[in-house]
This record gives sequence, structure tokens and C-alpha cells, in this order.
Amino acid sequence: MGWLKILSLVLLQNSLACRRWWRRKADGLWLREAGKCPWTGGGSLWGELEVPSGPSEAADTWLSSKAESGRITITVELERDGVAAYELNAFEGKSPQDIADRFAELGRRCSKAKPRRTVDCGPFREGTLHTLSNKIGEKACQHPEAKDARALFCRYPPRFYGHAGICNQYTQFCPFEELRMESDPSLIDTAVINVDAEMFHSMEECGVFQRELWIFKVFVHWCPHCQQLMPLLYRLALVLRQRGIRALRFGAVNCATEHELCAAQNWPGHPLLIARYLGPDRAVHDAIEHWVDVVKDAQLRQMLPRYALPGEFPVLKILLEQLPSSMLPKSSWSFLFDADAEHAQSSGCANLTALHLEHPEGADDRVGNGWHDAERNFTTRRRWTDAMLMLRHVLQEWIAPLGDDGNADAFSHGQLLIMESWVELLARNLPDAFGLADPLQELQSALLQRVRAAQRPEGSSLCADEWKLLTAPVLTRIAEVGQRDFVVASACASDTCRMWSLLHTLASEGFRREQGELSSKSELILSPSSPDVMMQTVHDFLEQFFKCHYCRRHFLKNFEAGSFGRDLAKTSRRQVVLYFWRFHNAVSVRVTAWHSCNTTDRRWPPSSVCPRCWEQTADDWPVLSEARDVVRGGASRALDLKSAPNEEEILKFLQSAFAEPDDLS
Ligand SMILES: Cc1cc2nc3c(=O)[nH]c(=O)nc-3n(C[C@H](O)[C@H](O)[C@H](O)COP(=O)(O)OP(=O)(O)OC[C@H]3O[C@@H](n4cnc5c(N)ncnc54)[C@H](O)[C@@H]3O)c2cc1C
Repeated sequence: MGWLKILSLVLLQNSLACRRWWRRKADGLWLREAGKCPWTGGGSLWGELEVPSGPSEAADTWLSSKAESGRITITVELERDGVAAYELNAFEGKSPQDIADRFAELGRRCSKAKPRRTVDCGPFREGTLHTLSNKIGEKACQHPEAKDARALFCRYPPRFYGHAGICNQYTQFCPFEELRMESDPSLIDTAVINVDAEMFHSMEECGVFQRELWIFKVFVHWCPHCQQLMPLLYRLALVLRQRGIRALRFGAVNCATEHELCAAQNWPGHPLLIARYLGPDRAVHDAIEHWVDVVKDAQLRQMLPRYALPGEFPVLKILLEQLPSSMLPKSSWSFLFDADAEHAQSSGCANLTALHLEHPEGADDRVGNGWHDAERNFTTRRRWTDAMLMLRHVLQEWIAPLGDDGNADAFSHGQLLIMESWVELLARNLPDAFGLADPLQELQSALLQRVRAAQRPEGSSLCADEWKLLTAPVLTRIAEVGQRDFVVASACASDTCRMWSLLHTLASEGFRREQGELSSKSELILSPSSPDVMMQTVHDFLEQFFKCHYCRRHFLKNFEAGSFGRDLAKTSRRQVVLYFWRFHNAVSVRVTAWHSCNTTDRRWPPSSVCPRCWEQTADDWPVLSEARDVVRGGASRALDLKSAPNEEEILKFLQSAFAEPDDLS
């Protein structure tokens, strides 16, 4: 079952909200409020409704009686002269919180009887942790995504130390002096311990946290920020071990393989730093509390459990400074933070994306010299390949249960609502070449049934296993279409880049469909999402499921602040395309500024690829204001060489990059 949007305005009674159901009293036909919230005019309240399309006799009869010349233009009067023809059927008298609670309660049935965990305290007593840690590390490296360069980042000790190629390109991944001098392999292996669910549980049961303060790095091997943190954390941990520090230890949890642990602990993204200490030393507790209070603003407090902090190396310094010097003399670690700051300042441009093939210094664009010349060769098909890869990754990895009650086997009601909207967004706005409209519509329909069932007295839930079954047809189709039509190389070197590709593709295709390039039939069946629905759905999805902790936080902050033309974007598909483009530019330039890449300009598209996209100006571009705050008057090519975008040309360029089918080359 899909949804047909009624194209005309609808007279409604005064209680219209968004996305609720109405039931026609006469025959039980139900309609759903479209995403666009109501507005007033002519003394009435107006809004948009959607009717279910598909095998519903009431809907079919109703629609055929109303359809005019192939398009559906209907005015629905929910009420006339005080008599209601429809009744609000939302929640059957239950509050949204009651529905969510019942959903969570039924979700507990999803939990399989788990085998009793074995608790083995031997390795902690006998100091044989390295064998266990290596085993857990190897398990993480078996993960299907641990391939190519990603395989260098799947466990501790990091594999990149034995890899000459990456060291030649990026000095931070070269073996450092203390490592080269170290001859004790068990010290090398245990500086940072790989931890899985069983080991974490054993640590709790065996009283490890009563004796030592542990800092866990929560990561996945494909996340660029986690990769950047890896050598810094490892060096700190090894140096402290070498200097005989025993009361502070480091562990690493790879959520790619330890999803259950990460969900149960409510660690929603990566990289994160988690503190665990249950011992008697008051000074250590005070240091941790201070750390949490200083680092976490209101937003972080809301997003993360109390002892989870952003995975940034300088954040660690704030904790170490507070720990008693008897436990951790400052001289044992402070030089590492000085060295890091110096490296960031002096290296001119630390690598931004660890895995870009070449550094694009050669480019001489006025705008965008920080992009590789290969940009010119990125066809739409290559960008779609990235969008497709991301889509698969999102369905397989990102959309995972993270219940408020720590249930890792069932989704929460809030998650279900967001998933249903997200899948609908995909079904309506992915290019036809993806061939996914049908399986995505089926998936949406299945999710919708759960949403509706959740409101009935019997209630419903959604288990993690059921989600896997429901998504299987989409994943199968992705594999088929991918092997047939998307065998071109990906253009991205990171998942966050792929996420951008997916967002740009959805926005551009939505706009293209609006331009009426598709036949009226398919337009009717799969009309693109309205701009406000697209904006809200992307927001909700990223808020709930975006695993890059930095990115998510930054996105939400700017979305809430209304930056980059958010409000305009809610009213126009054209503006949605430009909104994501502006946002992407703001992030790219801010990240280069943060890394002190003064001579690198990551405004996009580069002028060599789109000469008409930029015009010289004397004015600052407001989109770059965050980067300006980072640079604080210092030099920056992207800020100093002022250019104003010609948004008409940019739009054309974006449409050709993300929405125009090309051949398979
Ligand atoms: C919503 C969101 C928020 C993010 N916030 C942060 C953050 O706060 N901090 C942080 O460090 N990282 C953030 N990131 C990640 C960051 O944007 C990059 O993805 C990451 O640094 C990897 O960069 P990359 O070199 O792979 O290139 P990316 O910037 O990811 O992608 C580059 C490719 O996309 C295309 N492209 C570049 N610019 C544009 C544009 N403006 N419009 C359309 N296409 C373009 C080009 O073809 C280019 O090759 C965020 C990502 C997303 C999706």
C-alpha cells in the first residue's frame, strides 16, 4: 500500500496536527494528515491529507468518484455545520506516551533467552589479557566492512603501524618513537584492550572497575574521526604503560561487532569516550565529575549518558589534568598533548580524510583548490553508487534498536515512526534507476501496519530480527541492481561523504520530479516528498540514527538555529537542494579551518569544474561564518579569496551531478 497525496487544499476542523489518522464514520475509510502542517485562509483552517492507495475497496470507490481528469483534486470536509463526517482515530484514546510504553513493553518479548554469560576473572588476575584482547580484535576485523583501508582501523594495536603505504602519505599513522623502541609485545598488545560484550560483563563482575579507572573508546573502523583518534589514544596509552601507570587503563569497543553492548549501554554514536570507575578514591570520582561538567553542554547531556563524552583527544586532557598526580604525574602525559597541538598547527594541513588517494595541492582553482582534479570525472552514476552503498549501510548498520530502556532487541515506538517516514522518503525520492521503489513501498507499508497496530488495543512491537526480515527484499534488490547497473567506482572515500551523496541525491531527484519530467502516472503514484516533510524527515533520521557523533551534533545545532536557509528550504524543493549544498560547504570549510589548512579551499564545486558557479565579490559568504569563527582573523584561502555563488548555476550543476541519469561509464 502506498499513499496518494490529495493535491487540493482541504477544509478541516480546528484540531489538525500532523501525521494523524482520520476515520470516515460512514465506511471506516481512513485518511492521514500529510506532513505539511495546517494554515489558515478565508476564515478556515486548511491542510493536506493523504489517502491510502492499494487494495482498499472504500478508498478505491471513493477515489474513483472524486478523480478528475486523471488527477486527484478533492476537497474533504471533515465537518460541516458542527457535524463531523470523520473522526480523529489517533491513539484510540491513549496518549502517545502510553502507546510508546506499551510498544516498549511488548518489545521485551523480542529478547531471546540469552545464554548465560561466562564470567572468567582469570585474565584480569593473571595479567593474560593480551590473548583475549587479540582474539576480540581479530573478531572485529572479520567484520565484512573491515576491508581495504578500513581494515587498518578495526582493532588495537592499530594495524596501520605495519603499513608503509599509509605512513608515506600521512605521518600520524607512522610508528612513533616509543613504539619503535618497545620490545615487550605484551605491552604493545595491552596498551589499549579490545573489549567485547562478554569481556565488559566480566570486567563488571570481576571488580575491575573497583580497582582501576577505565576509559573506553567507542568506535567503528570506518568512521574518519575514530580513525584520527586511534593513533593519538594509542600513543598516550602505550606511553603511560611504559611509565608504569597502572591505575588508568584504556579499552576499545568496536560497535560494528558489539552492537548489542553499545545499544545496551546506550552509546548512540562514535567516537565516544566512556569513563568507568567504581573504586573508593574520592579524588578520581571528583575528576570524572569535573570532566563531565566542564565538557558537556546542555545538548550533550541530552544526547549522551552521563559518563559518555565526545571522542576528541583534547577532551581527554581535561580529565587527566584533574586526576591526582600520585596516580598520574603530569610529566608522564602532558608532552603528548603539546605535540598534538604543535602537529596540528605546524603541519599546515593535517589530512582531512585519511583515505583520499592524493593530496590536491596541484589544483589552481580560484575556488575549491582543496578538491581533487578527479572531481571532473565524477559522473552521476558514480555519485549514485555512493548513495546506494550508503543506503545499504543505513539499512544494515545504522538503523538499529536503541530503546530508551536499553533493549537492544526491539525498536522504540519513536524509532518506528522515524523509520516509516524515512523509508517513505526513500521510496518517493530515489531515482528510478535505483529500482527500489517497489520493495521500499512494501517495507513502508509493513512499518505502517506496525504503527497502526500500535494504536489498537492489542498493540505491537518491532523486533530487530523482524526488521532484518523486512529489509531483506530491499537489500536483495540493492545487490541485484548494484551488480548490474552500479559497477562503477565509488567517488567517496568515507561514509559521511556517502551520506552526503544520499542526501544530495534525494533532494535533487525530488526537485527533478517536481519539474514534471516524469510521466503524470508515476508522478501521481510516487510524488516526491514535500519540502517540509523532506527537511523534517532528514532531521529526525539524522538525529536518531546518524552514527557520526560530531556530525550529528553539528547538524542538529545548525538545524535548530535555522542556518543555511532552513526555513526557505521547508517551502521549496529547489531550496532543499541548495540547503544541503550550503550545509555541506559550511562543514567542509569549517573542517579545513579546524585543521589549520590555510591554503586549502574546500568550497564546492571547484571553479575549474564549474566556472560559472562563482563570481568575484568583496563580501563575505554568510554560509562560512562558522569557519570564520574558527580562523578568528587568521589566514584562510577559502575566506580570503572572496567569491559569491551564482545559485542558479549551482543548482544546474547540482542537478547534473546528482539527478541526471547518464550512461554507465
Ligand atoms: C550532515 C553531516 C554533518 C557533518 N558534520 C561534520 C562535522 O561537524 N565535523 C566534521 O568533521 N565532519 C562532519 N561531517 C563529515 C564531513 O562533511 C565529511 O564527510 C568528512 O570530513 C569526510 O570528507 P571527505 O573528504 O570524504 O569529503 P566529503 O565532504 O564528505 O564529500 C566530498 C565529495 O562530495 C562532493 N561535494 C563536496 N562538497 C559538496 C557540496 N557542497 N554539495 C554537493 N556535493 C559536494 C564532491 O564530489 C566531493 O568529492 C558531516 C557529514 C554530514 C553528512
